[in-house]
Amino acid sequence: MGWGGGGGGMMVGGGPPGGRVGGLPFGGIPTELLDGVRRLQASEPDHPKSAVAFHQIPAGQEAEQLSLFRLVTHYKRWLIESAIFVAIASIIVQAGPWLTGYAIDHSLRHAPYHLDILIWCVVAYAGMIVIGSGAQWAQARTSGRLAAGVMHDLRIRVFAHLQRLSLDFFTEEKAGVLMSRMTSDIENLQQLVQDGIASFATQGLTMATIVIIMFLQCWQLAALTIVAVVPALLVMSIWFQKASDHGYDRIRDGIADVLADLSESLHGARIVTAHNRQRQNIVVHREVVGEYRNANIYTGTINAIYGPGTLAIGILGQALLLGVGGLMVAHGNLSPGVLVAFFLYLNRFFAPIQLLVQQYNSLQSGRASITKLRGLLETQPDVPEAANAVDLPVIVGRITFTNVDFGYDPQNLVLHGVNLTIEPGESVAFVGPTGAGKSTMAKLVTRFYDPTSGSVCIDGHDLKNVTFHSLRSQLGVVPQEPFLFAGTIKDNLTFANPDASDDEVNDAVRRVGLEDLVDRLPEGINTVVHERGQSLSAGERQLLALARAFLAHPRVLVLDEATSNLDLQSETKIEHALDAVLENRTAVLIAHRLSTAKRADRIVVVERGTIVEVGSHDDLIAQGGAYAAMYETWIRQGAAEGLAP
Ligand code: ADP
Repeated sequence: MGWGGGGGGMMVGGGPPGGRVGGLPFGGIPTELLDGVRRLQASEPDHPKSAVAFHQIPAGQEAEQLSLFRLVTHYKRWLIESAIFVAIASIIVQAGPWLTGYAIDHSLRHAPYHLDILIWCVVAYAGMIVIGSGAQWAQARTSGRLAAGVMHDLRIRVFAHLQRLSLDFFTEEKAGVLMSRMTSDIENLQQLVQDGIASFATQGLTMATIVIIMFLQCWQLAALTIVAVVPALLVMSIWFQKASDHGYDRIRDGIADVLADLSESLHGARIVTAHNRQRQNIVVHREVVGEYRNANIYTGTINAIYGPGTLAIGILGQALLLGVGGLMVAHGNLSPGVLVAFFLYLNRFFAPIQLLVQQYNSLQSGRASITKLRGLLETQPDVPEAANAVDLPVIVGRITFTNVDFGYDPQNLVLHGVNLTIEPGESVAFVGPTGAGKSTMAKLVTRFYDPTSGSVCIDGHDLKNVTFHSLRSQLGVVPQEPFLFAGTIKDNLTFANPDASDDEVNDAVRRVGLEDLVDRLPEGINTVVHERGQSLSAGERQLLALARAFLAHPRVLVLDEATSNLDLQSETKIEHALDAVLENRTAVLIAHRLSTAKRADRIVVVERGTIVEVGSHDDLIAQGGAYAAMYETWIRQGAAEGLAP
């Protein structure tokens, strides 16, 4: 059962039938709700496993461009079914006015009235309604399925794409934008696929059918009506489309500005208050909101002109029909029944136009969403897998940096000429001032980035030429802020080694010294932790992250030490845990505390993107250089408190 799916409190799926009563303090599902949740789970249908294959897209290879056409044509069967039902529903109901005209002409005009014909017409009318409604029902059902399928594919496609992107894509500010792509943009499309397309098709087809029937019934009158009505309608529609596009752009920009201003004011609330900026803030916000209001008024006005305008054209058309058609009836060139049918058809011809006005906005937002999603899907990972990448064989763990230069922006180097070899099984601590480039060097080992020049190799294999999967399956990474997913402790620990047995998990827990915590929990390693482990202390989260790395048995471990101040007891625990985890592994430690650095086999001092000293703690102290100075300051500041230098 899944990682990160749903709220942490809801994670009971896949568990033993006995169920997990709660989790950590305040975690899991409240006991009073447990029965309800179980009932809900029992009634849930089994969803088949999704057959989604994940693969990296090699450098230079383009993914298929996103388009609505491609998305829907993937479901050919449902699309064809839907089209057939649309056709049936829109064509068959157009028999109504014809039947009315026929009944008038053939059963009601002259006595004796032929009531049998009238009855047949009524029966046919009713039959037509039944078939038409049936087709509409079937069509709505099919396009619902089509929309659900398309949205499912799109969600997976966007999500898989996000998984492929490089790490620096995911910044805090982007998270909001990405969430909106995954929610409102995809929902806009759902609206469009589910109702929009079918509705546009129905309305277009209805209008076409009506025109054909009118021509078949009396081509002179049909030609006259069309000539009188359609050009005016066309001119108005073109104007409407242009004006409405412009209005929609204004609304979209308007709401974006409102949200941006709102978010800035909320985030900067403290600064705003501290500098007495409230009044100016209100003035700015009033302007932004005012523009949004104007944009809405503008679109409202356009709709107000177009709707009644088309109605007026329709009524003028009817007047013309009455005059010309009436004369034709008087001269015996047209039967009254056909004239009545024409009136009904003309009405029906205008009905879809009103609907199109309402749906035009949904078409536009759907189109805008497609463009935005396409933009997201076309974002290329900064670190692509090489087209001819090979699997990294089982490694012993020798890491070599050769003449490595690197800049997040290649014009602006952060690392300069780094040369370093880390031997198999050796632990190396990077120390140095903040911003010196320690984490950046570690990121090159895990290939979150590629060097701008030079190479980073493991066992002589340039990381640029190996597959991500083979590399990362042999690497362990413990980040500064360990992330715990919604799920049990065991789920979290076996993240990188899903086949680990309970014994192995318990062993890992013991090795990092977490057995006390686990023993205290109601269900041991099967206890559910809150999303992101909020119910655990910082030290416990660190230890869990170490246990997770331990369980994966990586040959190479990259560990970014937590900077948060831990209490002395937790720190001692973590140091012991580190000893257990680092045993016999090549380890790169980004050490924020010299007490950690001291325990490493070698220490690398990084300053302004270059390595200035390398050696063991004792050697470097003896050298009396940068490290010795740092160490001295640290001792003076109070090593006993474990403060970072
Ligand atoms: P350290 O780990 O030694 O504190 P880093 O390796 O994190 O330093 O940072 C080295 C330099 O690179 C800093 O000047 C920092 O501002 C810059 N930097 C770090 N991460 C990024 C990033 N994602 N994009 C651009 N610059 C970055």
